[in-house]
Amino acid sequence: MTDAQFTVPSGHRSGFVALVGKPNVGKSTLLNRLLGQKIAPVSPKPQTTRTRLRGILTLHRDRGDPADAQIVFVDTPGIHEPLHKLGRFMVDAASRAVPDADVVLFMVDLTTLPADDDQTIAGLIKKHAQGPVVMALNKADLVSPREVEPRLKSYLELIAPQDHIVTSAARGEGVQELLEIVINHLPEGPRYYSEDEISDVYIRDIVGDLIREQAMTLLRDELPHALAVTVEQFKERRADLTYIEATLVVERDSQKGIVIGKGGRTIKRISKGAREELERFLDTRVYLDLRVKVIKNWRRNDAELRRLGYAVDS
Ligand code: GDP
Ligand code: MG
Repeated sequence: MTDAQFTVPSGHRSGFVALVGKPNVGKSTLLNRLLGQKIAPVSPKPQTTRTRLRGILTLHRDRGDPADAQIVFVDTPGIHEPLHKLGRFMVDAASRAVPDADVVLFMVDLTTLPADDDQTIAGLIKKHAQGPVVMALNKADLVSPREVEPRLKSYLELIAPQDHIVTSAARGEGVQELLEIVINHLPEGPRYYSEDEISDVYIRDIVGDLIREQAMTLLRDELPHALAVTVEQFKERRADLTYIEATLVVERDSQKGIVIGKGGRTIKRISKGAREELERFLDTRVYLDLRVKVIKNWRRNDAELRRLGYAVDS
């Protein structure tokens, strides 16, 4: 407990916001923009965000913010049809975020018409949401103004949200307005977290996700889902140097070869990219010791999924 929790201004609002939407609509991009720091991995490939990331935004009217509020965003991994156990985990994680939320923020992609995935998510929200639904119609920068209206209409027909707004998370357009809409739907309440907590996710999880993001960016065509990352060591050697030992886990020997690459070229590139991201995130120099390991069929094995940090319902 910190003093901040007891000294909130009157009218202070707070609550949990579940950010849901199919993969690749821009959930992580929005979260990164709102929180002003890269905590949720963004990648051109869906489902980089495997775990539920929480981003905490504390706002102060006397510092120029639109309200006194604390918003806890839950960034879900996106919902898709379960193809195997890992797919099922992602669906479960997103389904769990909705009933707990004070506000459900449903993000859709204006560059296409609603698809089956959007329908599935809309159904899930209708079934489980306890609070108001706000729809963010994203990637407006890629759509001509006359196309926006008919698309908007077909998305609103999916769910009839309490509020909606057209956004470009990438450019920041509509993002402040979206924030104000969300705050208006939050109940009055205390600060749940101290001011300086940006994320309550273990730093290790973020470190693992940042490494995985780098690997996926280089290997997106060869290894779409077959890659997990474990972080074995995380040590602050000095105030300005962090030592990280991590393992890229693949399912087959052939995949190990792909990850390592000719003469170790690929793993060196992954390692270099990951180290740069980690240094930016941790604000220290990073020594990264990266290995590759084969665990046969880890995606189909509940015990391995659990060991690799996925919550598996028994
Ligand atoms: P998530 O899977 O929903 O978390 O989606 P991401 O945030 O990872 O975004 C997926 C891709 O879409 C990335 O390449 C983003 O840069 C891109 N993106 C996200 N929002 C926008 C947007 O408003 N406009 C454009 N042009 N691209 C966007
Ligand atoms: Mg994401």
